[in-house]
Amino acid sequence: MDSHVGEVDIFQQCKYIHEVELVNMKLQMRILETHIETKDRLLRNLEDIIDEQESRIANMEDFIQGRATTYTNRSNMLRGISVLSLDFGTLSEENLRLKSALSQMQKVARVNEILETDEDYESDMTSNEDRFALSRDSSCSVPRSVSPQPTGDVIKPYPQMVQSMREEGQWKKLQRCAEELKNEKDELRRLAVDTKDAFNVCMAEMNMLLTSKTTDFFRVLIERYKAEMEKRKQLHNQLVELNGNIRVFYRIRPQLASESDNQKPVVVIDEMDNGVVHVSNTSGSRKTSAGADKVIPTGFSQEQIFNEVSPIITSCIDGYNVCIFAYGHTGSGKTYTMDGPVELPGINQRAIMQLFETAKERTGDIKYDIKVAMMEIYNEKIRDLLNTSNTNLTIRQTEEGKGSIPGLEEVTVSSAQEVTETLARGRKNKAVAATEANIESSRSHVIVRVLVSATNLITKVTTVGRLNLVDLAGSERVSQTNATGQLLKEAQAINKSLSELGNVVLALRQNQKHIPFRNCQLTRILEDSLNGDSKTLVIVHLSPDSKSLNESISSVNFAEKIGQVFTKSGTMKREPARRSMTGVSSGQRREIPPSPRK
Ligand code: ADP
Ligand code: MG
Repeated sequence: MDSHVGEVDIFQQCKYIHEVELVNMKLQMRILETHIETKDRLLRNLEDIIDEQESRIANMEDFIQGRATTYTNRSNMLRGISVLSLDFGTLSEENLRLKSALSQMQKVARVNEILETDEDYESDMTSNEDRFALSRDSSCSVPRSVSPQPTGDVIKPYPQMVQSMREEGQWKKLQRCAEELKNEKDELRRLAVDTKDAFNVCMAEMNMLLTSKTTDFFRVLIERYKAEMEKRKQLHNQLVELNGNIRVFYRIRPQLASESDNQKPVVVIDEMDNGVVHVSNTSGSRKTSAGADKVIPTGFSQEQIFNEVSPIITSCIDGYNVCIFAYGHTGSGKTYTMDGPVELPGINQRAIMQLFETAKERTGDIKYDIKVAMMEIYNEKIRDLLNTSNTNLTIRQTEEGKGSIPGLEEVTVSSAQEVTETLARGRKNKAVAATEANIESSRSHVIVRVLVSATNLITKVTTVGRLNLVDLAGSERVSQTNATGQLLKEAQAINKSLSELGNVVLALRQNQKHIPFRNCQLTRILEDSLNGDSKTLVIVHLSPDSKSLNESISSVNFAEKIGQVFTKSGTMKREPARRSMTGVSSGQRREIPPSPRK
């Protein structure tokens, strides 16, 4: 519809232009015709003048020759000249008028041209204004005689025509403006999309940069932190060595098939510090341990664990008293660590084997003698596990102030085979009582005592190092075991001995004068190990099972307490008659005031 209107308008304009040109042509034709006509007339007048002149000359000749008697002066020539001048005047006037009409037509043609070709809106407006002013100027109006007179269509008067053309021009300009605005809008939209894309790319790059920088930063921090932790551990080890306090390891046993329903282990090692454990349940962290000497990860094999403890065991050969004991609730893996399955023997067997190996390496001036004893404390009675007839042994104080158990069977072992057999015998005799907590659980404290005698073949002086390997009974509370009768009695005895162990630890930590070692058989046997005359390692066992969450928390509490104990003298003592084999004599050791571990 719009395009049709546009075509009609264009047609109308073309028609006007055509008409103007037509008038223009007609005017030119008219000018030419007038010229020709005037020239013809002039020629005719000139011919008349020439004719008259010729007849005058002939007349004068006739009069002079005597062929004529009179001479008539004729005025035809003058009349011809005046007619000619009149004609010239007429021609001049005509010419002037034609000239004026022609210039007017040229102006109109120019206006049309400008209307068609002017691109600039402002100048166009100005030129329209000018044209409008021009059209109002009466002198510029086309004379009636020369205005176009097309046949058929009614032609508008020129001012109206100019006005309508001007409006049309403005309309076109407006359309062009609208078109330009639309284009600009599209351009802006494209720009916005481009900007958004560029922004997204920038943000992604920034993000990547930030992530990589942060990751690098954290990596460096973590490396530094770990390096510092390593240094701290080394220093701590030295301090432990000098102070003689108790080392604490944690061992987290793997989840058992019966527990595999649990989604998440409740005990995990801290990612940053391999000496810290977190005990948590689904509602979040319940307990974070203080730094222990080491946390043995779940995946560690029996051999790997032994490698961790072997340095302390070796010092037994040098005459030190060494005590390793396994603490933890029933089912946490104490017996597995100390005794272990037959195919994967635990610390007990490996420790005795290592003592053999080390003794073998050192043969020459010194003769080693290794004896093994096994006992259990069951319901506060010391039972000999290598001699079942010794059911109620007692602890006596030796002249040197050491605890000894008279009558306890000590079996000399000289081969791996003998070690295995001896331990198997003791295991068989061990009292095992089924409880709801763990049907395989041991309800007694089991102590494997290895005595290493070293006799100097030249001086004949003998020194004895003692290695106590203690598998404590379960630390769970009586209320959890639903025990009654005999089992209740067992549980109460276990609880009592473990709480006495806790009291001893507390008294040692508070540097009390009186340490209640005598309150139960367990602390009496361990007195040598805890009072500074021994290198002591406590392996606190934790279970990943959520059912044991509370027990694991109380085990961590116990580990923290025992880790802060500094042995009585702050110095490691060895048997007086011994000669140092490590090159460090007790006299050389400096006493360092106890400081709390981190
Ligand atoms: P506890 O002596 O503390 O009562 P046990 O040593 O009897 O606990 O271990 C309880 C159960 O867990 C046993 O079946 C044992 O085989 C298993 N167990 C303990 N520690 C481990 C371990 N590190 N790897 C595999 N199984 C283990
Ligand atoms: Mg056990």
